[in-house]
Amino acid sequence: MSRILDSQKRIALVAHDNKKQDLLEWARFNRGTLSRHFLYATGTTGELLARELDLPVTRFLSGPLGGDQQIGAAIAEAKIDFLIFFWDPLEPQPHDPDIKALLRLSVLYNIPTACNRATADFIISSPLMQTEYRLDTPDLERPARLARHF
Ligand code: PGA
Repeated sequence: MSRILDSQKRIALVAHDNKKQDLLEWARFNRGTLSRHFLYATGTTGELLARELDLPVTRFLSGPLGGDQQIGAAIAEAKIDFLIFFWDPLEPQPHDPDIKALLRLSVLYNIPTACNRATADFIISSPLMQTEYRLDTPDLERPARLARHF
C-alpha cells in the first residue's frame, strides 16, 4: 500500500525542554522552507515556534499531557507526513512510554523522521521536500467496523 505526500507537507515538530532552543534555532534558520508547509507541534513547542517564526502552528496538547499520543494518532490516520522530534537522550521523561509509542508509529508508517539537528538538516534540504512523494505504508488489515467510524 502507499499514499502520496503532497508537495506541501504536514510537518509535526516536538522538542523536549533541553532541546527547545536547538529546535527554535533550526526552525529560524529554515523559516523560508517551513513557511511553505503546514506546521503542527505539541503545546509548548508550538507556542514557542509560532512566536519565533510568526507562522501559523496548529497545536496539540503538551507532550506530557498527551500531545505525543495525539501526533502518533494523526500519523496513523495519515494526517501528518513528517516528524521533527528533538527528544532528550540525557534526561528521563515522565511520558517516556508516549515518546516510544510516537517513534514506533513514525517508523511503522514510514514517515520521514528526524531526531537530531543533522538529520533535520539533511531532510529539509532534500529536493523531495518540494515534490510529491509516494510513501510506502504498511498493508494493515483494518477491521471494517472501525473503518466506518472514520
Ligand atoms: P511540549 O511537549 O512541546 O508541550 O513541551 C514536548 C514533549 O515533552 O514531548
